[in-house]
Amino acid sequence: MVKSFMFLSTEEKRKVFVKLIEYLEDKYDYNPWWNNYTPFQNLVGIIISQRTNMRNGVKVFYRLLSENLDDVDTIRNTDIRKIEEIIKSAGMAKVKARTIKALAEFIFEKYGGDFEKILYKNAEDIRNELLSIKGIGPKTVDVFLMIYSNEGILPVDTHIYRISIRLGIVRKGASYEETRASLENLISPEKRRKAHILLIEFGRKICRARNPFCEDCPVEKYCIFSRVDKYE
Ligand code: SF4
Repeated sequence: MVKSFMFLSTEEKRKVFVKLIEYLEDKYDYNPWWNNYTPFQNLVGIIISQRTNMRNGVKVFYRLLSENLDDVDTIRNTDIRKIEEIIKSAGMAKVKARTIKALAEFIFEKYGGDFEKILYKNAEDIRNELLSIKGIGPKTVDVFLMIYSNEGILPVDTHIYRISIRLGIVRKGASYEETRASLENLISPEKRRKAHILLIEFGRKICRARNPFCEDCPVEKYCIFSRVDKYE
């Protein structure tokens, strides 16, 4: 019988994980969605996508764009209630609208409205600056830094967290930081951005929250979940 992922040596785990990513690379298109938008638009999009599903997040993000609410000045000069109304269907509208407003104020005060200037700083400074804005937390910053830094960050969303638990990369209840570090340990920095996008696709289409298609999964033989939990 093949050993479960969690009982493999670190080297074996890396091989299996890299093979999974290569398999997903052949199967899904790699779509770096951030290429079409400014750093400010991307960060607003990341804030909106917190705790909502991708479809909702994308719909609300496009709505903001279509209303031209996508630059620092406009956000600063728009009534917060209007922003809340537009992003309502993404959930937590009051908190998210407040965060987007606080971000715009921060950029205006610190960078005269030109957010691109932050990209000249190193990742640690960017992280500290963004974390000083109320409502912006480590996960949001990680996604931003995944896009704009070469630190090789592999942010963990709900899909990636679920896959990591099921496969036995981390134990149930593992923290965000622990999960991120464990995943990053399995793959080289330059492949992590792609791994993030592809694992989300894998979580949405195969390793779904309910009724995963384990029969289509390239790592089923290493997966504890498919052997035990699913059939109990
Ligand atoms: S075997 Fe099933 S539960 Fe395990 S990683 Fe694959 S799809 Fe997910």
